Amino acid sequence: MRPVERFAPSPTGLLHLGHAFSALMGFDAARAAGGVFRLRIEDLDAGRARRDFEAAIFEDLRWLGLSWPEPVMRQSARGAAYEAALARLGAMGLVYPCSCTRADIAAAGGAPQEGAEAGPPYPGTCRPRTGGRAAPGAPHALRLDMEAAAARAGALTFREVGAGPAGETGEIAAAPEAHGDVVLRRKDGAAAYHLAVVVDDAAEGVTHVTRGEDLFAATSVHRLLQALLGLPAPIYRHHRLIRDASGRRLAKRADDVSLAALRASGWTPDDVRRAVGLVRAGP
Ligand code: GLU
Repeated sequence: MRPVERFAPSPTGLLHLGHAFSALMGFDAARAAGGVFRLRIEDLDAGRARRDFEAAIFEDLRWLGLSWPEPVMRQSARGAAYEAALARLGAMGLVYPCSCTRADIAAAGGAPQEGAEAGPPYPGTCRPRTGGRAAPGAPHALRLDMEAAAARAGALTFREVGAGPAGETGEIAAAPEAHGDVVLRRKDGAAAYHLAVVVDDAAEGVTHVTRGEDLFAATSVHRLLQALLGLPAPIYRHHRLIRDASGRRLAKRADDVSLAALRASGWTPDDVRRAVGLVRAGP
């Protein structure tokens, strides 16, 4: 099997050492195995994705010495594929409209659960199976009826060749129920992260997903969606997060040092590799 790795950043800020760690690890693994390294631009969040950040991603990754097949997939052009997946889940009776606002959900003791954000699961206010209903005519998101979905799919596992935050490795029992009724399509009409990432990994033939351990828990949701949609399950390699001197994980905020800033201050790609603990792979 010729492995296909991918790095899938969102162009909502400048890349930092944590992104470099993911990208380099995936690239090195692909190269060592004679496989392919892909870049995918996850620009679904029209309010936050910016073309200048996208250009910076290309520049930073090229500077690091990475290369990938062109053209790259951009999620903003993939609406039809996400709608087709939603329709399949809808036909299984697993999707329902939800008109709750963030304030409604907070008042009912939940968290909005959009994208990969963590928080208590959605309280089920609009879930038809338990007697709920979206407000007619109100803007609505689409949610997965998690309990029904998990029951339909049955017990699932995924293969972890890195490690989760608590050192989980090997064949991992998926626990998607903990996420509750995740959003699959947002109120603005864009597909949500969980759905898009699963559809796109399959469309690109991705066999190995290398990413930070902050997404380890979300993998259970991804595995469930793969099973329901009949998509192959990649092998997952989650890695430790890169932290700053005070132990805080890096984020795409202005106060975290970007690769662009490190480059401007004289860092070399090898300095980046050393900083994240990766030795240079081959000549
Ligand atoms: N686009 C996501 C991010 O930038 C990563 C998604 C993934 O690797 O699955 O955080």
